[in-house]
Parts: sequence; structure tokens; C-alpha cells
Amino acid sequence: MMHTDTAFSTPPVPFNKPFFSAKAQTYIAQALAGGSVSGDGAFTKKCHAFFESRYGFPKVLLTTSCTDALELAALLIGLQAGDEVIMPSYTFVSTANAFLLRGAKIVFADSEPERPHLDASKLEPLITPQTKAIVPVHYGGTACEMETILALAKRYDLFVIEDAAQSIDSFYNAPLHKSVPQGSLGHLSTFSFHESKNITSGEGGMLVINDDRFQKRAEIIREKGTNRSAFFRGEIDKYGWMDIGSSFLLSDILAACLYSQLEILDDIQQRRRAVWQTYFEALLPLEQAGRVRLPVVPTYTAQNGHLFYLLCHSLAERTALIEHLKRRGINAVFHYQALHVSPYFRAKHDGRPLPHAERYTDCLVRLPLYAELSLGDASRIAEAVCAFFSR
Ligand SMILES: *Cc1c(COP(=O)(O)O)cnc(C)c1O
Repeated sequence: MMHTDTAFSTPPVPFNKPFFSAKAQTYIAQALAGGSVSGDGAFTKKCHAFFESRYGFPKVLLTTSCTDALELAALLIGLQAGDEVIMPSYTFVSTANAFLLRGAKIVFADSEPERPHLDASKLEPLITPQTKAIVPVHYGGTACEMETILALAKRYDLFVIEDAAQSIDSFYNAPLHKSVPQGSLGHLSTFSFHESKNITSGEGGMLVINDDRFQKRAEIIREKGTNRSAFFRGEIDKYGWMDIGSSFLLSDILAACLYSQLEILDDIQQRRRAVWQTYFEALLPLEQAGRVRLPVVPTYTAQNGHLFYLLCHSLAERTALIEHLKRRGINAVFHYQALHVSPYFRAKHDGRPLPHAERYTDCLVRLPLYAELSLGDASRIAEAVCAFFSR
């Protein structure tokens, strides 16, 4: 009765689905019962300790979101109106907004021909005396080619802020750096714990401070421009207004949720990587037949099972594929719309064509990927993709 490619025993497959342990409720209840539910409570401290010890980050601060961590980073590097910040066009709006809010001029760069990542080999001509920072975005939790970016930053005295929103538990393995966690090479790095990421507190983020010149001021800006953090540590006997700032602390209720996720991080990662691998192996014949392109993962980067994409040949083909999968109860989705041609930025862009960013805008499609997706369902989703291309 049913066609084989519609034979899902389960309800429609969502694109994403957060995966919580029973401890999430226990810890949230503990945070509520403890009475200290604003920022920097007991669970925030546990999360900070986890990230600093597991990944060797010198200093981390939980924030309300990755967007806010990026805004905090933009405040920290002291941007002036007219300063220029280079970043990929193929990214989330927050990467750009954070620096625009400081009056910076955004200079969008193209993606690599083979991957959606910032093409480091094309950056140098974009650097001017006004350039203050480069913001690599580690798309899908696989790293940008950091060697070139770090060398340029050194030569031209620029800040590097890694948008590592998707990079939790992912590594960079270049010769100069052995194997370091993504997010540990820039002066500052930002992570996201939004519902759509591998681990989540609903909304949430983190600033990683690798350059200790920023440590003290980061705490102050995050605490509305006050030295309240030092006061709570007993280092000073009253606190006051020291600098500009905003409210970037994550509530300890959400930190409690995040801590429950950190306890099952290895389980989540293992499950997600298995789904990624299942897709990759099942779709390899399609790539070999020239029908799609699969993710390229250079040897210098690990991938953390954050997302699985494939590249179609055209927007029309991608639209038809998404429609084909939707009819079979599978929610596949496209991703970023290149920012240099967005309704907001189009007229501000300097007109350079960024053909690869535009190609990923039109041709990239992401398949469902979450910890609870069974490998059987992943195989059936891959079969549904193959069925589309064998029509
Ligand atoms: C998710 C994401 C963000 C924003 O994260 P929020 O925590 O939702 O603010 C920023 N940049 C990239 C690359 C992202 O994937």
C-alpha cells in the first residue's frame, strides 16, 4: 500500500529536536529552590568550571546568547565609527549586527569554493588601515583555515573573534596547533546554546576570553558596566559604575539546564556524529555520480555532528528536493541568505560579487540532525534523497 520511500513508522521527522536528560528538571528545580536565580549563581560557576577544565579555555563567561557574546566582544575591542570588520557574507545576521551596532563598517568576504567557510586565501586585499578585526565563522562546527587568518592578524595587528556558535566540542588540528578546541585561537570567541545547537539551555551563549587583557573589562561590561563581579568575590567593599556595559548574564535557571546538558555532552556528540556518518556514507554514491556535493572536512578540522548539508546544482533543484522530502514527512531546510545581498545591506555593500556565498545561499540544504534521530531513520532519509535524484 505504501511506497517504500514513504515508509516512516514515526510521525514527521522534525529538522531539530533538543535532547534533555531527567537531570534538566532536577537541576532547574534546585536552582529555583536555592533562591539565587539571577546570573553567576552556583550552576553558572559549575558550567564555567566545566568549560575551563575540559577545553583549557583561560576564562569563559556565560551570556544570554551568542548574539550577546558577539556584542560583548565588539564592545571589548573598542571599535570606533568607521573601523572595518571582515567576516563572511554566508553567516547568521548576529555576526554582522554585533559590529554594526558599534558603528563599524562590515566588509563581507566570500566563501571557499569547496566549503561555506570564509576563504582565508582571499582576505588580504580586503585589509585597509581601518581594518580592526576578522571574524571567522566555523560553519557547521568545522573550523576555518585559521593559520592564514592568524598570520594576517599578526602582520596587520588585527583582532580575531571566532564565531564558534556551532563549534561545541569540536577541534582544530593544524600542524602549528596540534589539536586545540575550536574557539581557543582568537583573542575572543563566542558560542551558542540556542535550541538549534548541539547543547542548549533554550537561549544562551558564552564568551571565551583567550587574551587576558580583556578579562577584567569583560566582567564589567557584562555586569552593566559595574565591578559587581569583583565585589561578589570579596575583592572590593563596594561596587560602582566603572565603564559602559549591558546586561549579558545568563539566569542560573538556564545555567542549571545547560549544566544538565554538559553532563550528557559525550552521549549527545556520539549520537549526532553517528547520524552524520550514516548520512555521509549513504549519500557518497550520489556524490560519486555527480548528483550532489557532500560536506568537505579538511584534515585540519574535526566535525562535531552539528549539521549535515548537501549541495544541489541550483535553487530550483533544491526547492524541488525540499518539497520531495516534505511530502515524505522529512523536514529539510536551507540555511543562510548571503548578507551582502540582503534587503538591509544590499545598498551598503561595495558591489564586489561574492559568487560562492550566493551559491551556498541557493544550493545548500540541511537534513534533520538531532541526538534522538535513529540511524534507521537517517538511512531512510538518505534513501528518500537518493530517490529524488534517481527520478
Ligand atoms: C546560532 C548562531 C548565532 C547566534 O546564536 P544565538 O545564541 O541564537 O544568539 C550566531 N552565529 C552563528 C554562526 C550561529 O550559528
